[in-house]
Amino acid sequence: MAMLSVHTSPVAMLGGTDAGGLNVYVCQLARQLDQLGVCVDIFTRRADALAPEVAQLSRRVRVISIDAGPPNVISKDDIFSYLSDFASEVALFSLREGIRYDVVHSHYWLSGWAAHLLRRYWNVPTVHMFHTLAHLKNAVGAGAPESALRLNTERKLLELLDNIIAANPDERAEMVWQLGANNAHICTIPPGVDLDLFSPVDAEQARTRLGLPANPLILFVGRVDAMKGIDTLLEGFALLHRRDWGALPPQLVFVGGTMIHDVDGERLGLDLRPVAARAVDLGIRQHVLFRGSAPQAQLPDYYAAASVAAVPSRYESFGLVAVEAMACGLPVVASRAGGLKFTVEEEVSGLLVPPSDPPALATALARVLDDRDLRSSLQVGARQAAVRFSWQSIGPAMLHVYERLADGERENLCCLGEVYAS
Ligand code: UDP
Repeated sequence: MAMLSVHTSPVAMLGGTDAGGLNVYVCQLARQLDQLGVCVDIFTRRADALAPEVAQLSRRVRVISIDAGPPNVISKDDIFSYLSDFASEVALFSLREGIRYDVVHSHYWLSGWAAHLLRRYWNVPTVHMFHTLAHLKNAVGAGAPESALRLNTERKLLELLDNIIAANPDERAEMVWQLGANNAHICTIPPGVDLDLFSPVDAEQARTRLGLPANPLILFVGRVDAMKGIDTLLEGFALLHRRDWGALPPQLVFVGGTMIHDVDGERLGLDLRPVAARAVDLGIRQHVLFRGSAPQAQLPDYYAAASVAAVPSRYESFGLVAVEAMACGLPVVASRAGGLKFTVEEEVSGLLVPPSDPPALATALARVLDDRDLRSSLQVGARQAAVRFSWQSIGPAMLHVYERLADGERENLCCLGEVYAS
C-alpha cells in the first residue's frame, strides 16, 4: 500500500499549526495495517533537509521523504505547484525499489491530486480521505477562506478518484448533495482511536505528574486554529468565572501551540500570544494554564486530571480529541458541529452545545462541574461510547475496502456503515 501525506509528515510534532488529527490518523492506520500483515510506504514531501530518505516506523511501515520543492515548510497552495515533481519522484522510488503497490490511499486534497497524477505511472486503484473539505470550512467562515484552487481541486477529485472515505454521515451527504459526488463511490468509516493508550488512569496521580492544581480543570487540547473555537472557549470560560467559585475557581488547561523554553525560562510562542492577550482582555489570564503541545503519550494524564474536556470547534471532520478524552473516561462538552454530532452522544458521553455560543458553552461546562452524578454517569458513558472507535474494528473495515478495490470492484465497498447507527 502506498499512502500519500504530502503536506505534513506523519511523524511531525503534534499540536502545532499543521500537525494534528491527520498525522495521528495516518500513523495509526499504517500501524494497524502492519498488524494485519500489510506493508505500507507513507510518502511525504521533504520539509526538513535532515530527514532521512527512508525511516522505519514499525515492522512493515516506512516513511519516505520525497524531494519536491524547497526542503522547508511552504504554504499549501505553493505545494500544489510541486505535486507533479512529487508524483514522478514517488514513481521513480518505486522503480528503484522494484515495488508495485496494490492500492494508493491519499490524505488531504494535496495528496489526492498527487494520487491522480501518479496514474501517469501506475495503474493502481485510489482511495482518498479529505480530512477537511474547503466547502464546509468556508461555510463556517472561521479564519481566512480556503482558496478557489482547493475548492475546485476537491470537486474534481470526487470524480477522478476511485473511492472516497467519509469520516461521518454528514460529510458523505455534503459530498453527494453539494459537490455532486457519486454516493456508490463513498464509504463512511470513522477514524479509530488507540484504546490501549487512551484508557482511564488515576486522577490524583496524573495531576501530581503534571504539576496541576486541585481546582476543577477544564481541558482544551488542539491546534491553535480559528476552526477550533478558541475565542468561544475563552469567552465561555470568562462567563463561567462571573460566578463566585470560592477558594478553588476552575482553571482552563490549554494543551497545544508553542511554548519556548530557553535561558530566560518559559515563554509563549507567537501562536499562543494572541490567545493569552484575549484572556487578559477577558480578565481570566491568571486562570489559564498554557502547557504548549504535549506528546500523545502524556495526554492520558491530562484527560485523567481534568474534570471535563471542552471541544468548542466550529467545524470538525471527526474530532479525535473528543474521542480520546471519552476513551479515558472524561466527559466532553462539544459543539454540535461536523463529526462531533456523531461521536459525542448527548447526555450519555457528554453535552452538545451550538457552535460559537459562549453562554451555552459556559452553562454546559458549569452543569458538568456542579453535578457530581451527571459527571459520574457521563464518565461511564464516555468510555463505553469510545469503544466503538477501536482500531480493531476500523482497521479491518479499511482493509476490506482496499482488497475489494484491488480486486477491481469500484462501487458500494463499505462494510462498516453501521458504526454510527449503533
Ligand atoms: N495532539 C497531541 N498533542 C497536542 C495536541 C494535539 O498529541 O499537543 C493530538 C491529539 O491527541 C489528536 C490530534 O492531535 O490525536 C488532534 O486531532 P483532532 O481530530 O482533534 O483535530 P485536528 O488536528 O484533526 O483538527
